[in-house]
Amino acid sequence: MKDSFGREITYLRLSVTDLCNLRCQYCMPPDGICKKTHSEMLTEDEIVLAVETAASLGIRKLRITGGEPLVKKNILSICRRCAAVNGIEEVCMTTNGILLPQLAPQLHRAGVQRLNISLDTLCEEKYARITRIGKLQQALSGIEAALTEGFSKIKINTVLIGGFNDDEIPALAALSKEYPVDVRFIELMPMTENEAFGEEAYLPCDAVLQALPQLQPAEQDGGVARLYRLPEAKGNIGLISAVSQHFCAECNRIRLTADGKLKPCLHSDQELSLKGCGPDEMRLQMLRAIEEKPLCHEPLSATARSKAKRNMNKIGG
Ligand code: SAM
Ligand code: SF4
Repeated sequence: MKDSFGREITYLRLSVTDLCNLRCQYCMPPDGICKKTHSEMLTEDEIVLAVETAASLGIRKLRITGGEPLVKKNILSICRRCAAVNGIEEVCMTTNGILLPQLAPQLHRAGVQRLNISLDTLCEEKYARITRIGKLQQALSGIEAALTEGFSKIKINTVLIGGFNDDEIPALAALSKEYPVDVRFIELMPMTENEAFGEEAYLPCDAVLQALPQLQPAEQDGGVARLYRLPEAKGNIGLISAVSQHFCAECNRIRLTADGKLKPCLHSDQELSLKGCGPDEMRLQMLRAIEEKPLCHEPLSATARSKAKRNMNKIGG
């Protein structure tokens, strides 16, 4: 279905939980978050109904995210049921990878075809610092497990943070030479609770082009990342300039939070509730979300924060 600006909306990002086994500094407060009561969150049946409704309106691609989707107890059942929905052609997941050593085979069998795995540094001490509680080796084992399992595509997502990991751009990019993975650098977005980062942290993705002069433009795939390639690499380098060059004109997505709020735009506070809706009401809310999708969000910068009133773990990045 097209929105009121002629954009075909085909992509639903579905957050299944706002809980996480890490506490990344740019995403969550240090103590985690207050767990909402069970009754405030979408049930598995409501999630599946939402995906069925979305598919009937033209959604073809589903990304399951969070919070950390793999901490959700019924995640395999959710994936299996969503992958079986008529019209859904592709099911992907974004994960921190920590639980992949245990879950990669079942996840693949449940219908998840592609994985984005988050990794901001290759240094143990820095990984512990940015995630507050994480162990680098666990994330690396997760990537190994995903590679062994043979998902159709694996992308490594790195949030580019000036003064933290800009010195690691070459080492992180080199993962695309060693393994058949794309490495994507994402600009740090100024969400509600990541004030701890000073202006220098908000580096534009052009810093990657400067650090890697040998990058060659690669064939583009229509996604939000500008694609490049290192010589003799097995995968691409993607630049996601969410702050310096937003991609609203090509935005084809809507989001659904774990507590059932449809968000037409990541950086707007507009939310339409699906919690407790039957099929007809859910369809009407989804139609409204697509129709009311704004043309563009307000400009973001180190000093102009997102208008979304949630952190990324509560939206589904
Ligand atoms: N827990 C999973 C993970 O980390 O991959 C999925 C959820 S996480 C919110 C999804 C993605 O959002 C991650 O790649 C994370 O690095 C990114 N993210 C979170 N907060 C962000 C921010 N303020 N700016 C840019 N990316 C952010
Ligand atoms: Fe958890 Fe992902 Fe947020 Fe890190 S970015 S705290 S792993 S939800």
